[in-house]
Amino acid sequence: MAPSSAARLWTTLVLHGCCLLGAAAAAAQNSREVILLDSKAQQTELEWISSPSTGWEEISGLDENYTPIRTYQVCQVMESNQNNWLRTNWIEKGDAQRIFVELKFTLRDCNSLPGVVGTCKETFNLYYQETDAEVGRNIRESQYVKIDTIAADESFTQGDLGERKMKLNTELRIIGPLSRRGFYLAFQDVGACIALVSVKVYYKKCWSIIENLATFPDTVTGSEFSSLVEVEGTCVSDAEEEADNSPKMHCSAEGEWLVPIGKCICKAGFHQKGDACEPCGRGFYKSSSQDLQCSRCPAHSYNDREGSWRCDCEDGYYRALSDPPAVTCTRPPSAPQNLVYNINQTTVSLEWSSPADNGGRNDVTYRIMCRRCGWEPEECLPCGGNVGYLPAQSGLVDAYVTITDLLAHANYTFEVEAVNGVSDLSRTQRLFASVSIATSQAAPSQVSELIKEKVQQRSVQLSWQEPEQPNGVITEYEIKYYEKDQKDRIYSTVKSKSTSATVNNLKPSTAYVFQIRAFTAAGYGTFGPRLEVTTKEEPSGTASTFSAYALAVKFPGTKTYIDPETYEDPNRAVHQFAKELDASCIKIERVIGAGEFGEVCSGRLKLPGKRDVPVAIKTLKVGYTEKQRRDFLCEASIMGQFDHPNVVHLEGVVTRGKPVMIVIEYMENGSLDAFLRKHDGQFTVIQLVGMLRGIAAGMRYLSDMGYVHRDLAARNILVNSNLVCKVSDFGLSRVIDDDPEAVYTTTGGKIPVRWTATEAIQYRKFTSSSDVWSYGIVMWEVMSYGERPYWDMSNQDVIKAIEEGYRLPAPMDCPPGLHQLMLDCWQKDRADRPKFDQIVGILDKMIRNPNTLKTPLGTCTRPISPLLDQNTPDFATFRSVGDWLEAIKMERYNDNFTATGYSSLESVARMTIEDVMSLGITLVGHQKKIMSSIQTMRAQMLHLHGTGVQV
Ligand code: AMP
Repeated sequence: MAPSSAARLWTTLVLHGCCLLGAAAAAAQNSREVILLDSKAQQTELEWISSPSTGWEEISGLDENYTPIRTYQVCQVMESNQNNWLRTNWIEKGDAQRIFVELKFTLRDCNSLPGVVGTCKETFNLYYQETDAEVGRNIRESQYVKIDTIAADESFTQGDLGERKMKLNTELRIIGPLSRRGFYLAFQDVGACIALVSVKVYYKKCWSIIENLATFPDTVTGSEFSSLVEVEGTCVSDAEEEADNSPKMHCSAEGEWLVPIGKCICKAGFHQKGDACEPCGRGFYKSSSQDLQCSRCPAHSYNDREGSWRCDCEDGYYRALSDPPAVTCTRPPSAPQNLVYNINQTTVSLEWSSPADNGGRNDVTYRIMCRRCGWEPEECLPCGGNVGYLPAQSGLVDAYVTITDLLAHANYTFEVEAVNGVSDLSRTQRLFASVSIATSQAAPSQVSELIKEKVQQRSVQLSWQEPEQPNGVITEYEIKYYEKDQKDRIYSTVKSKSTSATVNNLKPSTAYVFQIRAFTAAGYGTFGPRLEVTTKEEPSGTASTFSAYALAVKFPGTKTYIDPETYEDPNRAVHQFAKELDASCIKIERVIGAGEFGEVCSGRLKLPGKRDVPVAIKTLKVGYTEKQRRDFLCEASIMGQFDHPNVVHLEGVVTRGKPVMIVIEYMENGSLDAFLRKHDGQFTVIQLVGMLRGIAAGMRYLSDMGYVHRDLAARNILVNSNLVCKVSDFGLSRVIDDDPEAVYTTTGGKIPVRWTATEAIQYRKFTSSSDVWSYGIVMWEVMSYGERPYWDMSNQDVIKAIEEGYRLPAPMDCPPGLHQLMLDCWQKDRADRPKFDQIVGILDKMIRNPNTLKTPLGTCTRPISPLLDQNTPDFATFRSVGDWLEAIKMERYNDNFTATGYSSLESVARMTIEDVMSLGITLVGHQKKIMSSIQTMRAQMLHLHGTGVQV
C-alpha cells in the first residue's frame, strides 16, 4: 500500500513527536506477559487488512531507538463520513482468557489543522471478533464487538516556546473472557488523523517457580480481574509435603504468585540447600523431616553412609526403643554396690547403693531374682509366686526391697540387678550383686484340716493335721471355741500338745465353732478355718447342771509310757498302741535303707478320707522267728504311745498280712549324723540350735512320759525336709544290740560308750539323766557337723579320759554358751545335769537372743584338749599325711598337700588356717575339719614329745 502524500507529511511529524516523548513512556518488558502480537517486533510488512484501501496505510518508520518499525496511519480529516477499518491478522489466543491490548498512537489535534472544522475527529474505535479459525479478508462490521472508543489523553502538548508538539499516547484495554480459539482486532477511524505506532496483544501468566521446596508450574491467569487461580505445588526431590499442609499458591490476574499456603520439607536424611534437598554427610544424620539441619552422630554412635536418618550404636552400646535418634547410645548399668541384708524370721530386707556406672542413662531401676537353694549350690530354683516383694520385684526405683513369705529354715540366694532402658537389648553377661541368706524361724502356717472325731452332749473330740509349714517345732496347739449364736465375742480356749484334743463342759444341743492355731518358738500361727459342731441332745430327764460359758479345759494330761514287755501277749500291746493298717492303703516306692529286721522303704499311705502322706515302711524279712517278729513290732508298740512333733510318728502297722510292716512318717533327710556330714559347714548357728532345740523337746516329752531312750545319738535322730529333727529308734535291749556303736562293757551289757553317761557304763544306771549326757554328745555331734565324738580314740581311752574328768572341747565355731551346756550335760553327778525341760528353755532363750550365739571371730580355735592328755597314739599310728587325710575322710586333698610340700605330719601340724586355705581348699566346712584335726594332732604331739609346736 503506497502512502498518500498527506499521510507521509504526518508521519514525519508523528514520529518526530514520538521520538521526542516516547522514551519516557517506554515500559519495561514485563516478564509475566505472553506476547501474542507485537507490531513493533515485526520487521516485515504487517499486511493487515485495510478497508477501504484508501483509509489506513501501512508506513515504515523508525522508533525512538532508530529501530525500523511498522505503523498504520490515516488522516482523512477533510472529508466527512469517514469509516476506515483496519483489521489485524488472526491472533491465536492459546490458553489465555483475558487479553491485554496496548496501543501506542499519536493523534492530531483538530485545532492544529486549518479548514477541518466539522469533519475532523479526535478519537477512533477499537473492536474485536472471536473466531475459531481465520475467516476471509472481508470485514463484516456487524460481527465485531466494540471494545472502546479511544481518545488521546493529550493530542498535543505546549512546548516551552509555545510550540505545540505531538505526544505519543499509550492506551491499554483488556478483553475477555474469551472462549474461541482466536480473534481479530479492528480499528475504526471516523475521520481523525492518527498514526498507530504499535499494537501489542498479550496475556499474563504466573511463571513456574519453586517456593518452600515446592515447584509450581506455569499458570495462565484467570479470566476475571479479581480471580485467583489456586495451584498445587509438587515437592522437589527428597522433600515431602508437610503433614496436613500441602503446598499451594494462587496465581493472580496480574500474573503474580500470591498467598503461599503449606510447604514441603526435606525428608529424613536430607537437609535444605537453597531450593533443593541434599543428603546429610557421613557422620551426620537427620532423623525427621521436621528437623531443619543434619546433626553430628551422638556419642557412641556412627554412620558411614550419606543421607542417614539415624546413626548406629557402637558395639556394646544400645538405643532403647523409646530413645530418639538424637540421644547418646548407652549400655546396661554395672552391678549395684554395697548390698546389705537384714533377716527377720522369713522376711528379708535388702538395701544397696546405686551402680558405679549407670550406663549413661538415668532410667536405672532394680530387679530382684530370688532363688531357693538346696544344700548344694546347683540345687537352686526360682522362688516362685508365693514370695512377696515390697514395693515390687522389678522396676524398683529406690535401692531397697523387702521380701516376705519366705520359707523358714531355708537357704535363699537373692540377686539384685540394676537395669536401664537398654539392659534387655544387651547380650552381654548380666551384672548383679547377690547374697545368700538362710531364713530363720517363722510362725507356723494354718491348721487347715480340723476333724470332729467324737461328738457327745457335753464334749467334742477333735483332731487335726500338723500345718503344712510348721516352720519349726510345734510345741502346742490352741483351740478357740465359742457358741455359734454368741459369735466370737465370748470365747474359750483349750491347749493341746498333740494333734487332738477333747473340749469338755459344753452345753448339749448347742452349735459351737472351733478354730485351731499352732504355736512354735516363733509364736502363734493364724487360726485355721472354722469348724461348726452341734453337741448331742441330753437324754430326756437329765437336768443340765452346766453353767454357761464354762472355761474349764481338759489338758490331755501327760501319759505314762507302758513297757510292752509287761504285756503277756505282745500282739495285744501292738494293737493297744498301733493302728492296724490295710496293706492296700500302702504303696511301696523304693528301698531307702536296711534295718536289722529287713529293708526300710519309702512309699505313700492313703487313708480313707485323708490326703496321702509320704511314709517310711520298715519291713520284716521273710523267714523270721516269732521272737524276731515280737522284737520288730516292739518298736511300734513303743512308738505308738508317743505323739510329739519331735518324736518320729507311727502311722500304724500291718500285722495281718505279709510282709509285716511298721509304717512311720517319712523323714526326707534321713539320719542326722549323715545329713550333717553331707552338709558340712552349711548351716547357720541358729539353724543348728533349732535342730538341737527340737531334739531336746522330743526328749523332754519322752522323759515326761517316763521313757528312757538309752541310745540317743545323732545317728538315731531323723531329719525331715523342714529340718525338723525327731527322735527315733525305739526298742528295748535290742536297740542297743542293733547299734554298731554299742560294745560289751565289763558290766555285761552292750553300750554305745562314747554317748553313754559314766554311771550307765559302770553300773547300767540308765535314766533320763543319762539320756541328758547322751544329749550333750548329740549337741557336740551337731555343732561339729557329724564329727565322731572323741575322734579315733579307743573306747577304753574314752572311758578312762572321762573318768579322769576330761571332756570334749568346743567344736570349731561353737558358741561358748552351747559348749557350756554340753559340759553341764556331762556332769559326773547326774543330779547336777540339767533336765530336758531346762535345756529346752536355755535353747529357746538363745534362739530368741541370737547375739548370745555369736562367736567372736578368731577366738574359735579349739583349746588344746586335756582330754588327749593320755597315752593315745592315734596320730602316731598314721604313717603318712595320706593316712591321716583318709582317716578324717579328706583324702580328696591328698594331692593339694603333697604338691605344696606338706609331706610329713610334723609339717602339717604347724599349718595355720591360712596355710590350709592356700592349698586351694575352698569349702569352709572342710577347712574347719582339717584345722580341727590339725589342732588335735598338735596337742597330741605336744603331749608325746613334750615339744611345743610354734604356730
Ligand atoms: P533303722 O532300722 O530305723 O535304723 O533305719 C535304717 C535306715 O532307714 C535309717 O538309717 C534311715 O536312713 C532310714 N529310715 C528309717 N526310718 C526312716 C524314716 N522314718 N524316714 C526316712 N528314712 C528312714
